[in-house]
Amino acid sequence: MRILLTNDDGIAAKGLSLLEDVARTLSDDVWVVAPADEQSGAGHSLTLSRPLRVRKAGDRRFAVTGTPTDAVMMALGKLMKDGPPDIILSGINRGANLAEDVTYSGTVSAAMEGALAGIPAIALSQDYSRQGMGETVPFDAARSWAARVLAPLLAAPMAPGTLVNVNFPALPSDEVKGVRVCRQGMRDYGRAELIERRDPRGFPYYWFSLGPAVQTAGHQTDLEAIGDGFVSVTPLHLDLTHDPSLAELRSRFSGA
Ligand code: MN
Repeated sequence: MRILLTNDDGIAAKGLSLLEDVARTLSDDVWVVAPADEQSGAGHSLTLSRPLRVRKAGDRRFAVTGTPTDAVMMALGKLMKDGPPDIILSGINRGANLAEDVTYSGTVSAAMEGALAGIPAIALSQDYSRQGMGETVPFDAARSWAARVLAPLLAAPMAPGTLVNVNFPALPSDEVKGVRVCRQGMRDYGRAELIERRDPRGFPYYWFSLGPAVQTAGHQTDLEAIGDGFVSVTPLHLDLTHDPSLAELRSRFSGA
């Protein structure tokens, strides 16, 4: 099994090296093609207005000066062209990717790119508490649960055009209650705070800060699973069509 690893925290991120440890227990054919710098929040963006550079960082290890999507495209279209991966793992992200996070997340988008290319892809993220910010994010739950979560996911083929989003709760591994397969949740809007500061020359600058979210957990969502201390496993697909609205919209355009 040939495994491609990528992420959005950058090639030097701790979560990526942890994922590499896990991947090497599954295969000895592990490739890393990851953004050179942090790309958290890059979503599914593709670099079109600048050139990309690829830096070889070791055997089967490459840093790409672009987004997570760029990295996956570079891997599939160039670096691994003669032997594409059987599976793409993205992460392990520093911070959860729950609910609508998946629409901003570079981690999840790298897995989306795999799904578009017809390659089974899994995004993995580690939640952390407010106390665990900065460099001290504990990957405790991910470290001991990742292999246990991956084994059943890799045991059968994925439906075409789908990916799987995995989140580990911010708990010591022995306090994790288990694994829950669940829906994507949705939070109340208004999570992003705009922090305004002054630069050394007196001009304002702004920085988005993700404040504590108002949880509208709902039943059997990823938010609820993580809140209850479980690892969340959510199958996603890229067809964003809202089926219930199709008939209603068609009726509005029936005379057109
Ligand atoms: Mn990230």
